[in-house]
Amino acid sequence: MRQVAIYGKGGIGKSTTTQNTVAALAVAGKKIMVVGCDPKADSTRLLLHGLCQKTVMATLRDEGDDLELDDILKPGFMDVKCVESGGPEPGVGCAGRGIITSINLLESMGAYTPDLDYVFYDVLGDVVCGGFAMPIREGKAEEIYIVASGELMALYAANNIAKGIQKYADTGKVRLGGIICNSRKVDNEYALLKAFAEELGSQLIHFVPRDNLVQRAEINKKTVIDFEPDSEQAQEYKKLANAIDTNKLFVKPKPMEQDRLEELMMQHGFLDALL
Ligand code: ADP
Ligand code: SF4
Ligand code: MG
Repeated sequence: MRQVAIYGKGGIGKSTTTQNTVAALAVAGKKIMVVGCDPKADSTRLLLHGLCQKTVMATLRDEGDDLELDDILKPGFMDVKCVESGGPEPGVGCAGRGIITSINLLESMGAYTPDLDYVFYDVLGDVVCGGFAMPIREGKAEEIYIVASGELMALYAANNIAKGIQKYADTGKVRLGGIICNSRKVDNEYALLKAFAEELGSQLIHFVPRDNLVQRAEINKKTVIDFEPDSEQAQEYKKLANAIDTNKLFVKPKPMEQDRLEELMMQHGFLDALL
């Protein structure tokens, strides 16, 4: 069983990309569980066709420890198992602790069945505090992909996430599997992201184009794979899924200093384009 975590800045496209990749892997015959690790709890909405499933944290609060697996785990598209860890009551408690409570509970309830090929964790990565590093820290997810684009803040967040991975890679098994570019149609974006990934010692595992079909599918509460399986965008997600499935490059990342990150952007003409 491969345990994969998808990190990246808020709004970059983690949940969309994760669900489309998972849907593509499921179509290819893989057995998968998705655990949403974002207090927003929208990591499985497209796989569940809009069903708003109750989070593990909310169920624990309302019903106490006496839960059944069916209360918190719902089958979605192609039988993908869907869980949302949820967050603490706003203003109270640590969101990261909620994630690890959920994972431990899933483990003790037998959700990690041996037939699973993959578990995907969709994790918020704006704040790389100890809380959101939990799936890495606790040795749950060993394979990390970072979703980024050519925008400075996305790369800044990605570099910070790489710093978090580096810290735990020294003492544990966690490795960076690659950077996924979710395009924002920034000038020279492909070359910039490729250079960024290589500077980290990693790879640009796939460049996902920006396409309004993603939003159309989203309004219909579906992944693109489900909504328009023969579209070009669906093929892109299939390529990404295949690249992850056959990936052999897992590294301890070498994050950059801020100056180097800005220099890299300048080399690719990005800052010039802003002037
Ligand atoms: P995150 O989980 O990182 O916060 P989401 O996956 O919720 O981000 O994506 C934010 C928005 O961007 C969504 O409305 C989604 O439809 C849109 N989006 C994501 N990827 C693409 C893409 N490749 N093309 C067009 N729109 C996209
Ligand atoms: Fe929030 Fe992170 Fe602090 Fe936990 S460790 S309370 S998730 S900022
Ligand atoms: Mg999300």
